[in-house]
Amino acid sequence: MIKVLIAEDDPVSSKILKRNMTKWGYEVVITKNGEEAWQVIQDDKKISLAILDWMMPEIEGVELCRKIRQEKKEKYLYIILLTSKDRQEDIIEGFNAGADDYITKPFKYLELKARLNTGKRIIELTNELERLANRDSLTKLWNRRSILRTLDKEIHRSHRENKPVAIIMLDIDNFKKINDTYGHLCGDSVLQKISSRLKKNTRKYDEIGRYGGDELLMILPNCTLSNVKKIADRIRHFVCDRKIKTETGPMSVTISIGAVSTETIPDISAEELIKASDNALYKAKNKGRNCIVTN
Ligand code: GH3
Ligand code: MG
Repeated sequence: MIKVLIAEDDPVSSKILKRNMTKWGYEVVITKNGEEAWQVIQDDKKISLAILDWMMPEIEGVELCRKIRQEKKEKYLYIILLTSKDRQEDIIEGFNAGADDYITKPFKYLELKARLNTGKRIIELTNELERLANRDSLTKLWNRRSILRTLDKEIHRSHRENKPVAIIMLDIDNFKKINDTYGHLCGDSVLQKISSRLKKNTRKYDEIGRYGGDELLMILPNCTLSNVKKIADRIRHFVCDRKIKTETGPMSVTISIGAVSTETIPDISAEELIKASDNALYKAKNKGRNCIVTN
């Protein structure tokens, strides 16, 4: 369901808008002025469409539109300006500020519905593009670029908030042998099933991505070394204790894990943290695999 923000200072108008849009299948949040709208847009990542009244207290719709385009980089927000201004230069100003569409007041509801449909189509396309750009197609986990970007963000946040961030580098043991013995397709299916087991066992704020080949990277914000140790152990059991079903029958697969936390290595960069987890993983492989090594 598409989540819509309405910024409109006239309570009657916004109430009618909300009632109609809810009926058409949108989830609607109402704000009364530009400042409040800006706060909600920054806080609520689910909002993908905004209807901004041009004339509003605090920040006007067209100004808010400019601000969104300048400062909100992460997820595309489709913007419809709501205005009683219908002179050509006003319309041009609205588009120049970054609006995708506009509708003049008093407006007809069926026209709004049709314009919302256009917005919905664009939003679905941008969501699909975003998914293709950020997800690994085989495992559906974050791809390398995306998980490394998240790690960078989390490291900065951990410095700012003075809280540790932990990472788990995880690698399938003797994966090449699975490919060589049972074929590449069977290997693919093992990778997919391990990824889905990991996803099921991930806490809400943790993120997991495919770092490369059979190597997966998990980011755990606000996590100490003793916590990451416990979590890594739980994960290893969750992945390895039950056999994995494949076309060639059930298969025992094990993983090795290198886990580190900035708690014991503060002021570390993302790159150095990855290196530390890789070293720990290397040690786990050398210890005979199917185990965890922490820093
Ligand atoms: P180790 O226990 O030391 O990790 O041994 P390993 O065999 O798992 O490690 P190695 O790095 O030698 O081999 C990893 C293999 O993963 C090699 C590569 O062909 C395979 N691989 C990488 N990506 C994919 C993929 O998408 N699908 C399949 N089926 N195999 C992949
Ligand atoms: Mg491996």
